[in-house]
Amino acid sequence: MPTATAAERFAEKVNTAGPLSLRHGAPGPCHLWTGRPNPKGYGRFWTDRRYVKAHRYAYELHTGPIPAGLEVDHRCRRRACVNPDHLEAVTHRENVLRSSNIAAVRAARTQCIAGHPFDQANTRVRANGTRQCRACQRTRKRATHTPTPHREAA
Ligand SMILES: [Zn+2]
Ligand SMILES: [Zn+2]
Repeated sequence: MPTATAAERFAEKVNTAGPLSLRHGAPGPCHLWTGRPNPKGYGRFWTDRRYVKAHRYAYELHTGPIPAGLEVDHRCRRRACVNPDHLEAVTHRENVLRSSNIAAVRAARTQCIAGHPFDQANTRVRANGTRQCRACQRTRKRATHTPTPHREAA
């Protein structure tokens, strides 16, 4: 039996039915690396007798060589994702700016979009770290359970 190519070995370690990304510019589901991640959460792939970062490998496999001096950024912000559509080569400066902007904007928000406070009693923190307003959740629930009044025929 011929040995699998590196690309085949790579594909075996990817779960293409990952969670959907809700961010702009990251269409479709994340492709999650199922192999062991490195301590920072990036996938690692063994090829050419060394470990390479799985998302960098995916980028080069599908898009082409990473331009010199650039880093491969996750638009979906999931480090284990190797979906080439979610990867983009950017400068280190831009990469750092993007990550800190998203976290900073999110952390600075003290209210939900409806103006309810993000305090301890009203906030539910989801597994992915985003916050959800309990008051809004209740409103949504009520809205779906309220029967719509009958309309008179004209
Ligand atoms: Zn992704
Ligand atoms: Zn709210």
